[in-house]
Amino acid sequence: MPLRLYNTLTQEVQPFAPERDNTVRMYTCGPTVYDYAHIGNFRTFVFYDILRRWLRACGFQLDHVMNITDVDDKIIRNALAQNKPIGEYSAIYTQAFFEDCELLRLEKPERVTPATEYIQEMANAIHKLGEEGYTYEADGSVYFRIARFPEYGKLSHIDFSGNRAGARVDVDNYEKDDARDFVLWKAPKGDEPAWDTIVGRGRPGWHIECSVMAIRYLGATLDLHAGGIDLVFPHHENEIAQSECLTHQPFSRFWVHSEFLLVEGQKMSKSLGNFYTLRDIVQQGYAPETLRYLLASVPYRKALNFTFDGLKSAATAIDRVRNFSLRLSTDKFPPGVSPVLDARAAKAMDDFRASMDDDLNTAEALAATFEYIREVNVAMDRGEFATGNIASAGALLSLFDSVFAVLTPTATAGSLSDAEVEARIEQRKLAKKARNFKLSDEIRDALTAAGIILEDTKDGVRWKRK
Ligand SMILES: [Zn+2]
Repeated sequence: MPLRLYNTLTQEVQPFAPERDNTVRMYTCGPTVYDYAHIGNFRTFVFYDILRRWLRACGFQLDHVMNITDVDDKIIRNALAQNKPIGEYSAIYTQAFFEDCELLRLEKPERVTPATEYIQEMANAIHKLGEEGYTYEADGSVYFRIARFPEYGKLSHIDFSGNRAGARVDVDNYEKDDARDFVLWKAPKGDEPAWDTIVGRGRPGWHIECSVMAIRYLGATLDLHAGGIDLVFPHHENEIAQSECLTHQPFSRFWVHSEFLLVEGQKMSKSLGNFYTLRDIVQQGYAPETLRYLLASVPYRKALNFTFDGLKSAATAIDRVRNFSLRLSTDKFPPGVSPVLDARAAKAMDDFRASMDDDLNTAEALAATFEYIREVNVAMDRGEFATGNIASAGALLSLFDSVFAVLTPTATAGSLSDAEVEARIEQRKLAKKARNFKLSDEIRDALTAAGIILEDTKDGVRWKRK
């Protein structure tokens, strides 16, 4: 069975292959670099990575474009507040984003395109849309006239016929189900950054950047466009409207979206105190690949509930594969080969591939891996596993790691400095004092996971390294 993916456009699971020359032309919406990316963002970026890796495992080549939104309302607001030029401000968080991606072992797309490098091209596209009557101007800003695109709503499957025509919206953040003419070009306001272009002075809206950069590098029709589920409407709906009115061709054959991430069953938010970046997770003593594994282990179309228990289980699962790998290279096995165990490895690989081909069912692919490891550990204990079986076991581990990429430990993982350990112990003391035992236990567990053993004595807390 070939690879099948759920296409939001058709609402069906469909066989996927690129249109031509075996190359997947794909576009994924990148980060808005106004702050550190949080673990909800990284769920989407890990999904892109798993998708990339499996497309390649299917024998396709990739031409993958991802944008960096380096001009938007939040960046401008924050940069002004800190008295920095927006380029200087956004560079800090662009760099932080790529550092995090590296820690999470995310492959870099073939092309990464910062929006501010394509402003003139965006203005030209808006000008062309204007010539064909798809836009109108109001107070120096240019809006897309949704009424001119009857197919509006075909991705989100929302019926927009006959509602609220002519109302305008010009901010980058939208309330859901608010179908209004969206802004393509924003008139300059106060001391906001602005560019001089064919459509006047100002700056582009958020939606137009993705259309312009995608078409510029990948052509009028992409094979695949991916993003988080929250982008379906209005962002991707707007991308389709602009792009298809520009080229008069379908914008993307496949639209693939990853589901939400919840934290302990709740929406993640700073006000609920359950907001985490990768840096927060690493600071608690977890290796970055533990988060990668957790985010990858839930199939992308299922909501993912992040918990610290889940993170601990992820660490345990990684250890199990690493221990098996270690055993494979250090145990003494009898000579010969067991055909049964070679067949067992072949079956595990078939199951792994079939699961990934089935709309990237990572949970089933992991189940196939761990069933095999469990059975083969028993076979090793019984002396049934022979030197001739090492190759097939290694092949399964390679297949596993080509997708999940967690076998190699991060060099710095677990090496908290003394000061960091002391700081965590102090936080735990405060948590206990506030009778927040859940938090104090979490801190102790995280330290344990980082190889730090705590001992509560009558003279206070003593600690040592494992
Ligand atoms: Zn986009």
